[in-house]
Amino acid sequence: MVDQQLAARDIVDERVLDAMRRVPRHRFVEGDADLAYGDQPVPIGHGATISQPYIVALMTQALSVSPTDRVLEIGTGSGYGAAVLAELAERVTTVEVVPELAETARALLADHADHVEVITGDGSLGHPSGAPYDAISVTAAGPEIPEPLLDQLAPGGRLVMPVGRGVEQLVLLTRRPDGDTIETLIPVRFVPLRGRHGA
Ligand code: SAH
Repeated sequence: MVDQQLAARDIVDERVLDAMRRVPRHRFVEGDADLAYGDQPVPIGHGATISQPYIVALMTQALSVSPTDRVLEIGTGSGYGAAVLAELAERVTTVEVVPELAETARALLADHADHVEVITGDGSLGHPSGAPYDAISVTAAGPEIPEPLLDQLAPGGRLVMPVGRGVEQLVLLTRRPDGDTIETLIPVRFVPLRGRHGA
């Protein structure tokens, strides 16, 4: 998976490639392992999907996560994205709105319970008690970046999110001393972000 789907494309960050070699993706997907490691998203129930490996890698690479970073993920889903982020960051807080998904992910991430926290709730509000975050990964799509997430991003922080309606663009926002910059990465399709500041 890593060599053929990621390194063969534009995933060049060795730390990201190594993290994705270490995390056993099949644990987060029910069914056969071929499906888990295939070059596509996989439905995981409750209207959620575990993202295609390449998209997880691209988002993680864009976030330039360093070992001292605190990371917030919105949309825990299977817990796979959080597990990959946990390989790279000091602390990961991940928020999931569907209680059943949060519970399953919490169990799968129990090995990392000292530095990964799964919160059940509306992630469009972020998780203010853990703020500020050096990196925020939003894995569900909305018409715009929710204001509370911008409020919880640290100076120098990075945020990735699929933004738009229908076909979304994956955008990377970087908080620089002279203001936020936004870069459009690629067109993507994600499940909609629910909640107060959602789609
Ligand atoms: N990162 C996940 C992919 C998740 S798919 C993984 O690695 O498997 C998107 C997820 O976002 C779904 O689980 C969906 O329930 C969740 N979601 C949608 N709106 C949300 C919200 N407002 N707060 C938290 N989670 C939300």
